[in-house]
Amino acid sequence: MGRPIPFQLDAGPRDRRDRPLRDLRISVLDRCNFRCPYCMPEEDYPRDHRFLGKAERLRFEEITRLAGLFAGLGVRKLRLTGGEPLLRRDLPALVGMLSAIPGIEDVALTTNGSLLAARVDALREAGLGRITLSLDTIDPDTFRTMSGGQGDLAVVLDAIGAAERAGYTQMKINCVVMRGVNDHQVPALVEHFRGSGHVLRFIEYMDVGTCNGWKLDRVVPSAELRRRIAERWPLVALPAHYSGEVASRYRFADGGGEIGFISSVSEPFCGDCSRARLSADGRLYTCLFGRSGHDLRGALRAGADDGELAGLIRAVWQARGDRYSELRGIETVRSRERIEMYEIGG
Ligand code: SAM
Ligand code: SF4
Ligand code: SF4
Repeated sequence: MGRPIPFQLDAGPRDRRDRPLRDLRISVLDRCNFRCPYCMPEEDYPRDHRFLGKAERLRFEEITRLAGLFAGLGVRKLRLTGGEPLLRRDLPALVGMLSAIPGIEDVALTTNGSLLAARVDALREAGLGRITLSLDTIDPDTFRTMSGGQGDLAVVLDAIGAAERAGYTQMKINCVVMRGVNDHQVPALVEHFRGSGHVLRFIEYMDVGTCNGWKLDRVVPSAELRRRIAERWPLVALPAHYSGEVASRYRFADGGGEIGFISSVSEPFCGDCSRARLSADGRLYTCLFGRSGHDLRGALRAGADDGELAGLIRAVWQARGDRYSELRGIETVRSRERIEMYEIGG
């Protein structure tokens, strides 16, 4: 990764709001071994729920070919997600293939951590640059509830240890906060990760998908959370690392490290959004709240050449006007059909 680019890359398309295409999130499958209530509530997703079949999902070669075309259009960062991406057992092989793409500077992974420990060394060797681990609580019972009765906190904490030993000493730990469900756990999480080198980031519970029964009163606005945390551990604001960074960054005044807040509901950041999303069945989404994707798999499997595929992606990006989070307050926008989070991976 980070190798020089051997050919002149296109400056890339700009969308209708003049935003470039820089990041691609790749969902490698829609299945998950957890049933988090804000994403895939267990009552809607029983064990026999029909997820995509193997033939419907993009193969690694197909993902890599598309990712190469995205890189040619300006994408520099790739993030593997799902569903639970580590349910694709040979994920390290995909990481290796993606890391070798000219122009790609970073390949990252978002995971619930349940299957990470055994695979983390192979991922590291394959070139995985960064890991974001989702962890909503540090209490075993609340963890069980938050994973829909499927997860075991001890396994995830072990995975964090294994990742540290493999060299991932500065992971992002993402926590979705739901009022009345896990917000009482916030101080314990902060306590646990302060001084660890990892960056805990609190995410406002979003109205993604159609089945999580989202209500505004379940959202704990970042400003409130920040105030609650700062009463005990004073915080100092930090500048963004780069334009388009989704988390606002703070450091503990006493030197206990960094903490972040992702305020997609209370402080939308659509203006800088340079992220595209590829679903496991090869549909391209230009927004987390997209109604429908653009089918790339069809063209790919029908024999389209690289120029045709790149032209398709470019045209989709140029037509993009999405800014859902900025429009969220408008009821007609909120009540429409849309993609589920586990299909495009957050
Ligand atoms: N299964 C992996 C995991 O949980 O890390 C990757 C996929 S998951 C869909 C990606 C991220 O989306 C997770 O960090 C999860 O917490 C977040 N997420 C899912 N539903 C959400 C919601 N309604 N609001 C905010 N974040 C959500
Ligand atoms: Fe699975 Fe991740 Fe969704 Fe939880 S947030 S149900 S772990 S895909
Ligand atoms: Fe980007 Fe859509 Fe989220 Fe706005 S709502 S930040 S356009 S993904």
